[in-house]
Amino acid sequence: MDTGGHRLDPDDLLGASAVRAAVDALMLRSREHVAQMDADQVEAATAQCRGAALDVLAAVRAAIGSPAGEDEPRGRAVVVIEDDGGREVHFHAAFHPQLEESGEDGAFLGTAAQAAAVRMLSQMATEDAGGNAPALGGSGREAIMANDAELRHLRRCVELATEALEAGDEPFGSVLVAADGTVLAEDHNRVASGDRTRHPEFALARWAAANMTPGERAAATVFTSGEHCPMCAAAHGWVGLGRIVYVSSSEQLAAWLAELGVPAPPVRTLPIREIVPDLVVEGPVPGLAEQVRDLHRRLHSSS
Ligand SMILES: [Zn+2]
Repeated sequence: MDTGGHRLDPDDLLGASAVRAAVDALMLRSREHVAQMDADQVEAATAQCRGAALDVLAAVRAAIGSPAGEDEPRGRAVVVIEDDGGREVHFHAAFHPQLEESGEDGAFLGTAAQAAAVRMLSQMATEDAGGNAPALGGSGREAIMANDAELRHLRRCVELATEALEAGDEPFGSVLVAADGTVLAEDHNRVASGDRTRHPEFALARWAAANMTPGERAAATVFTSGEHCPMCAAAHGWVGLGRIVYVSSSEQLAAWLAELGVPAPPVRTLPIREIVPDLVVEGPVPGLAEQVRDLHRRLHSSS
């Protein structure tokens, strides 16, 4: 581990000043969120950061220190995967003992654990080169692997939602994409007409029924700025459309609206899978979801 010229004492890592520095750094990374928190939330976030800091520092200490009572330290590799607050993911690796150069074509010698860590990192690097950036969904949901093309569709959904808001509608936008990646249709919310069923996902389901074969529908993907409501999820299921990728979840929307003091809608917000159980559904997409949240803030602060 490069410590800038001096050797790091593993025992210092769990000392009060190191833990405090780590907690400060973690809180600084989240400063935009922290600025919106009340005192209790800041206290809870600090406690959470302290837990995370202790986990990471304990792992690094284990990687660079020798276990007590062992003459021959076992090999270790500690990999820390950290997001930068956007869609970039940084990898940090620490090895103990240090990897040895084998002298042949730049190869290194390490223990079995270290070799496994290097294999895992190089596999991730290969996936990265293919344009896939791993990103984790928020609030404990499953991971979403969105590639560049899919991100473009998701950004277009946010653009359509913005257009809807600017046209006096609610901020929701959706894009229907064929199996080969061709954009077939897109729409945004049109409830300002007075017809509360004019959601973009419902319009796309009806477009698909009128213009696509059942096979084409099943292979298509609907990208959308907000998770389908029960009406749209049912329409999607009835016409046999395929995968859904949403930017923000119904759960997030319900929380945002409650926060803004907006009365609950007459139709319950349910996860899509409650309505169409076998559908492949992915989301939310961190980073973009915050943009959708801002659109809802704009809608409800201006009315
Ligand atoms: Zn809907």
